[in-house]
Amino acid sequence: MRHVILDTSAFIQGYNLSTDEEYYTVPEVLDEIRGELGRLRYEGARSSGKLRETSPGEPWVREVEERARASGETHKLSATDKKLLALGLQLKAQGKEPTVVSDDYSVQNMASRLGFRFVSQATRGIKKVLTWTIYCPGCRRTFDSPQEDDVCPVCGTELKRKPRR
Ligand SMILES: [Zn+2]
Repeated sequence: MRHVILDTSAFIQGYNLSTDEEYYTVPEVLDEIRGELGRLRYEGARSSGKLRETSPGEPWVREVEERARASGETHKLSATDKKLLALGLQLKAQGKEPTVVSDDYSVQNMASRLGFRFVSQATRGIKKVLTWTIYCPGCRRTFDSPQEDDVCPVCGTELKRKPRR
């Protein structure tokens, strides 16, 4: 039995629910679906009992926030993204092996760091985990780890990041 976590794009684009998989999502996803078709897909999956709408516990959300911050992903992940990833951690703690369905590179990247599989619908999944170089657009220094408040400790400019090759 695969345990599959669906993000907003899965409902917008349509994801074929199979009988030998269990599906999970967080309630915030429904709020993000703008189109009627996507909402119908969500409601249909939920009322059929195939989709479990679950809010992850607070400790798991905090852990995702800490891990995202440590890897420089925190600004790329929405609150809903973090909840979906936290749900993955919670499932993992219950002995399950979550697979995350998301077309968002930051979600995929973070899922991989947290030790989950991920699949992408529209885009091809990233081949390896990206690591980021944090750099200062002001004085051109680079940093291996996130800096306090995301500002350059030397000149005070807001830091940016780019994928490391
Ligand atoms: Zn600087």
